[in-house]
Amino acid sequence: MSDLFKKELLFKILVVGDFGVGKTSIIKRYAEGTFSPKYKMTIGADFALKQLDWDSETRINIQLWDIAGHERFGYLTSVYYRYAVAAAIVFDLTRPDTFFAVAKWLADLRDKVSLPVGRPLPVIILANKGDVAANKVPPQIEEFCKKNHITSWYVTSAKENRNIDEAMNRVVVEVLENQR
Ligand code: GDP
Ligand code: MG
Repeated sequence: MSDLFKKELLFKILVVGDFGVGKTSIIKRYAEGTFSPKYKMTIGADFALKQLDWDSETRINIQLWDIAGHERFGYLTSVYYRYAVAAAIVFDLTRPDTFFAVAKWLADLRDKVSLPVGRPLPVIILANKGDVAANKVPPQIEEFCKKNHITSWYVTSAKENRNIDEAMNRVVVEVLENQR
């Protein structure tokens, strides 16, 4: 089908999680295909765009929102959450405390974002830095997801480009299901 007749969708997807877990790196990897080991901190909400030719009739414009420097508050203002259709909560496999923070980020999301249809916001969990040797997935993760209506989680690596496209595709599927 010619591009002219394609349906265009815009999905605002939030990327949250503690400081240093790899949120900015995941966004960069997904939207730009790059990774930088250097540490760069920007302040303010920021987003990256990625276009997905989903099927012959649909183009999806994904807007990935980075919380850039606001992690220390542990929550975000409702302006940031407005019109979001899904979220990725990221933790760092090399720092167990960042997994415990996932519950806090989830509570903030569930508290502040409501979808028009009244369904819970689709959420995925990304266990990042899966390339680092000797890291271990927290055994509670399955139970945590089940309890909180989270259908999927992935071990990712922004560095080695592992599972990031897969995870984002999964979240897009959940958003599309919600719109039916
Ligand atoms: P943010 O604070 O959550 O945005 O985290 P950043 O994206 O700034 O990443 C924090 C640090 O972890 C940086 O030094 C990154 O290079 C590094 N990092 C991010 N993702 C990965 C990864 O998948 N593997 C490894 N080994 N390092 C990563
Ligand atoms: Mg960042």
